[in-house]
Amino acid sequence: MYDYLIVGAGFAGSVLAERLAKDANKKILIIDRRNHIGGNAYDFYNQDGILIHKYGPHIFHTNSSEVFEYLSRFTAWRPYEHRVLASVADKLLPIPINLDTVNWLYGHDFTSEELEKYFEKIKEPVQHIRTSEDVVVSQVGRDLYEKFFRGYTRKQWGMDPSELDKLVTSRIPTRTNRDDRYFTDEFQYMPLHGYTRMFENILDHPNIHIALNTSYAEIKKYVSFKNLIFTGPVDEYFDYCYGKLPYRSLQFVHETLDTPLLQPVAVVNYPNDHDYTRITEYKHLTGQHHNSKTSITYEYPSWEGDPYYPVPKPENAVLYQKYKLMTETLPNVHFVGRLGTYRYYNMDQVVAQALTLYGKLSNRKSLKEAIDTRTEKKHVTSPGIYVPSTISVGRRAGNLKSGLESSVRWCGCKTATQTNCTRTVTRRAPTIWRR
Ligand SMILES: Cc1cc2nc3c(=O)[nH]c(=O)nc-3n(C[C@H](O)[C@H](O)[C@H](O)COP(=O)(O)OP(=O)(O)OC[C@H]3O[C@@H](n4cnc5c(N)ncnc54)[C@H](O)[C@@H]3O)c2cc1C
Repeated sequence: MYDYLIVGAGFAGSVLAERLAKDANKKILIIDRRNHIGGNAYDFYNQDGILIHKYGPHIFHTNSSEVFEYLSRFTAWRPYEHRVLASVADKLLPIPINLDTVNWLYGHDFTSEELEKYFEKIKEPVQHIRTSEDVVVSQVGRDLYEKFFRGYTRKQWGMDPSELDKLVTSRIPTRTNRDDRYFTDEFQYMPLHGYTRMFENILDHPNIHIALNTSYAEIKKYVSFKNLIFTGPVDEYFDYCYGKLPYRSLQFVHETLDTPLLQPVAVVNYPNDHDYTRITEYKHLTGQHHNSKTSITYEYPSWEGDPYYPVPKPENAVLYQKYKLMTETLPNVHFVGRLGTYRYYNMDQVVAQALTLYGKLSNRKSLKEAIDTRTEKKHVTSPGIYVPSTISVGRRAGNLKSGLESSVRWCGCKTATQTNCTRTVTRRAPTIWRR
């Protein structure tokens, strides 16, 4: 008899499995219907030996020192600050919109103060900001909205920003300085050896049994367990009794090219051309060296496929509330994660949500207490970089290293990720960003 059956081996399920096994000494069975652990953060070495993210680019960033400290037990990190360019008017321009975006797009030479005044002049007054369109036009006016946001959002969501909740575009700031980082969080890192390796370490405990290619529906009759943690879709658990919660999906097309590097940054957005929304080039994210090849992914939004983004519309929130009420009637079943709570969460938010649930289950009052494992000692080697204390790195590396992996080399430097990295050059000489 297991103390807990955990459905889903993504961040939500894996963090709970680790805490319950290690800190509370519970016996855990964690299952996933996919053939791998890691959920949407799963990464793997493709046939060309390049580490890629199967479900699109995952960039770790957080302001939570507890979440960062907790995950640092299972991975060392590589500092990485994410930058994105948008292909607009035959130029590659920084997004979020900042001083350089406006100057390079229109050929201005504004200072920050002048740009503030310019935004004041071009922004459209909106009395009640309700939609994604309202958010943008009320900050930067119609032209920048049309060029950078409208087409991208229409592709991404299959509907006009005027029909979408303000939440979607509120996540993207507008800046009047030259800060071109996509995120401004305190901790911005990538797991040094990838997400999957980190998940292997999280789940590496004798109390944890893992079953892959296994869905909850097929296994529930055959396993005995006292409690259930469900990180799959909440509507699926209740057999869609009130109807399906809508999700937007993505089709990922992965390609390897015979060139050392394709684009100056990890992600280039295409708001106005093509059916895909963006192209990701992984070597920028991972810092992997590979002399002759690079791997990229195109993202094509669609209504078919795996559930990725809950659709933020009021009627969907009402539908979710009906399911939520049902979850509250089941004392030994806990719903957690982005599918279990029908909410778009970043990875750090899901980790915090899982740790908070663990805190409740184990009568801990705070995140700090929830991550506390009295038996564990943390080894800090240099500021901000932690070496996991719970695993034998040598043993794992030996077990898992494949022939392909041995052909790659890791770079630990802060900025340049590649010998001929164009990013470091282009950041200082922005005109090179133009096509
Ligand atoms: C394209 C894309 C890019 C993203 N980029 C970022 C980023 O850059 N930074 C960031 O912080 N976050 C990012 N995210 C969000 C991130 O993916 C999520 O925060 C995280 O994966 C959520 O973890 P989870 O455990 O809740 O869900 P998941 O990772 O989806 O894990 C749930 C698991 O449950 C399994 N499952 C579901 N139902 C069942 C069932 N009935 N039986 C068995 N198994 C089941 C699924 O197969 C899945 O593996 C991105 C998401 C997407 C879609």
